[in-house]
Amino acid sequence: MKHPPNHIFSHTPESLNAWCRDVGMPPFRATQILEWVYAKGVADPDAMSNLGKADRDLLRNQITFLSGAVVRHQRATDGTQKLLVEWDDFGAKAADAERRVSLMPGSDTSRQTECVMIPSLDADERHAPARFTACISSQVGCPVGCRFCASGIGGLDANLSAGRIVEQVWRLSRLEGVRRISNVVFMGMGEPLANLGSVVPAIRTLAAPWGLGISARKITVSTVGLPKAIDKLAEQLDLPVTLALSLHAPTDEIRRELIPWAEYTTIRELLDACRRWFERTGREVTLEYTLLRGVNDQPAHARELARLARTLRANVNLIRYNEVSGVEFERPRDADVRTFQDVLREGGINAHIRASRGRDIAAACGQLRHEQAPQA
Ligand code: SF4
Repeated sequence: MKHPPNHIFSHTPESLNAWCRDVGMPPFRATQILEWVYAKGVADPDAMSNLGKADRDLLRNQITFLSGAVVRHQRATDGTQKLLVEWDDFGAKAADAERRVSLMPGSDTSRQTECVMIPSLDADERHAPARFTACISSQVGCPVGCRFCASGIGGLDANLSAGRIVEQVWRLSRLEGVRRISNVVFMGMGEPLANLGSVVPAIRTLAAPWGLGISARKITVSTVGLPKAIDKLAEQLDLPVTLALSLHAPTDEIRRELIPWAEYTTIRELLDACRRWFERTGREVTLEYTLLRGVNDQPAHARELARLARTLRANVNLIRYNEVSGVEFERPRDADVRTFQDVLREGGINAHIRASRGRDIAAACGQLRHEQAPQA
């Protein structure tokens, strides 16, 4: 999959200024165009009413606004919404969207990704959502292939461009009922640190005042762990993002059974990279741990995990395995999850059990995929 050559969501004010200059538009046009897109949520040049017709025509003909089409939109009973986006190939225009939707049964899954909007309700669930989290994809498919995750089935098809990463958040911010995206998590399809060249500029746009204006601290990059890439991300000191390490196992032996890439990196090397991250950025790492019944969810596993987490002073997020068709793992028993959390807490670790959101539309952790799974 090629990237659109002139995609609005890949532009910065500087690059859009340069383009405006090249096509003979006045320099303030770039500011106006970006305001339409990000502040007013308009990605249709014909609706940009303070631009003359000639400039609107230039925009429509030379810049790609939406570089993909939503081929399915699902809503879960808990308010979570999921979009299946099919990305255009090089140069194709979103104006073709309707034609592609009509071709949906034969559409190209190697160009599809999913993204999710998760509203967070108050504890009593009586008030309007206080927070809206966008869970987005960084790649089409995933090269890692964790055994409990749908995203890696079939491997990697393509990296997403920075613009396509940003476009997902923009699309989610436009969904009905969403006031403003407050948090972004790179926990959809793909290993974000294997596509750092797109992920870093995308984060800059997400956090920029002229872009989506989301606090970088509320943007979480979740990785199975590539030590060199963690070091590189730590160098972006102007981007105080949160790093989450998907550990999923307390020993290298169990980790290798679950995560094929664990063959290349030991837990010790990963934790060393997390320590360097902390030394460089001053921000603690969160450990993510998917509980799989009978595999890694017993008290002995929790004790070992607590020992590892203490060396980092890391919080631990516990995630119950979410079912993936064709995958043989089982969801842990509630009693085992509670015991696991208790053992971590007794070991001095701040441990949270993450709620599974959007399970009824396969939008929860580990369930995103680039195929049109049967309608829930
Ligand atoms: S858990 Fe993350 S890294 Fe592993 S296969 Fe799924 S998307 Fe890829």
